[in-house]
Amino acid sequence: MSTLLDSIARLRSEVCSLHAELTRYQLVVWTAGNVSARVPGYDLMVIKPSGVSYDELTPELMVVTDLFGAPVSSLSSGADGATVEWANPDLTPSSDTAAHAYVYRHMPDVGGVVHTHSTYATAWAARGEPIPCVLTMMGDEFGGTIPVGPFALIGDDSIGRGIVDTLAQSTSPAVLMQNHGPFTVGKDARSAVKAAVMCEEVARTVHISRQLGEPLPIDAAQIDSLYARYQNVYGR
Ligand SMILES: [Zn+2]
Repeated sequence: MSTLLDSIARLRSEVCSLHAELTRYQLVVWTAGNVSARVPGYDLMVIKPSGVSYDELTPELMVVTDLFGAPVSSLSSGADGATVEWANPDLTPSSDTAAHAYVYRHMPDVGGVVHTHSTYATAWAARGEPIPCVLTMMGDEFGGTIPVGPFALIGDDSIGRGIVDTLAQSTSPAVLMQNHGPFTVGKDARSAVKAAVMCEEVARTVHISRQLGEPLPIDAAQIDSLYARYQNVYGR
């Protein structure tokens, strides 16, 4: 069980520092954007607290919740009944916690989730238009189109369900929730952040290309081979 404390400490530090990537790549304004990580082997996740500005985040402020979004500060082991406790800050988890938690409950291979309102990706989301795969880097990273998920409001599981249902039909680790913005997933939090950065990058490039004319499509077979090669070399 001490490995649980080690995992929580490591993930708090990792999730905290990954928020600096959101500001570095200009994916967020004010406090609107968040990173979370699953605690491997436990029904727990680590996520940004609500309403704390990015430059005030510290590892200790990262909130540990269960996979329904309720803050948790101790756990009893089944074997010897011992209880492991850790300090949980007196903060509420991000208002997007329910969506992150839904993804972890329904996508067991996902170890990290990121949500932003990055400008170009959100502009595509506002029009409800998937980003067509017209760049080799999109073939590499996304294996095809970046899909659009349904319009959904915060408050119940509808955002989480929309993310999971849309990603289930796609190779893409990113989904543009209609009129809202991108959610990305990865094997860990760092991969989900990379997907968020790449999603914004291709959203911007394809948008600019559109302004100049009609981007050329890439054959489906070529996209498949780009994706297979890249995922084999770099892993998913
Ligand atoms: Zn949002």
